[in-house]
Amino acid sequence: MSIKPIVLLPDSVLREKSAPIERFDDDLTRLAADMTETMYDAPGIGLAAIQIGIPRQMLVVDVSKDEDNKTPQVFINPEIVKNSDEMNVYEEGCLSIPEYYAEVERPAAITVNYLDLSGKAQTIEADGLMATCLQHEIDHLNGVLFIDYLSKLKRQMVIKKFTKLAKQNAAVL
Ligand code: ZN
Repeated sequence: MSIKPIVLLPDSVLREKSAPIERFDDDLTRLAADMTETMYDAPGIGLAAIQIGIPRQMLVVDVSKDEDNKTPQVFINPEIVKNSDEMNVYEEGCLSIPEYYAEVERPAAITVNYLDLSGKAQTIEADGLMATCLQHEIDHLNGVLFIDYLSKLKRQMVIKKFTKLAKQNAAVL
């Protein structure tokens, strides 16, 4: 296992669409392990493969926030098949947009079909933080970021700030 560098805004990689996974082998298990380690190290509660530069439909999630009892879950080729009418607002952040938080409204409960690491079909009914986290991470697979839900003005401010930061960091050689 190894910790991978996380791709940051405004890197255009974050806007790429991820392709479905078809092969369930040791490489995939290794990718899941690397993603899990990277997520815990950050620390975060969810990570999509595209956030470490791999455009494949895989997520790791652990909303337990329990240091002693970690329960990472891997979601491959996830698809939202049902949304509740009821909405929920959470303050969201993103490992690719560090230290920026904003409230986003999303369906309060969802049903997601996905494959596990062995390629077996699974279904999860999620609500609360898990529902928000899964929607946020599944958005990443479509090149969508949580700042896309904010006003144009707010979004442009965030992108400008991170573009400036990226330039500053690039100058440090
Ligand atoms: Zn994110």
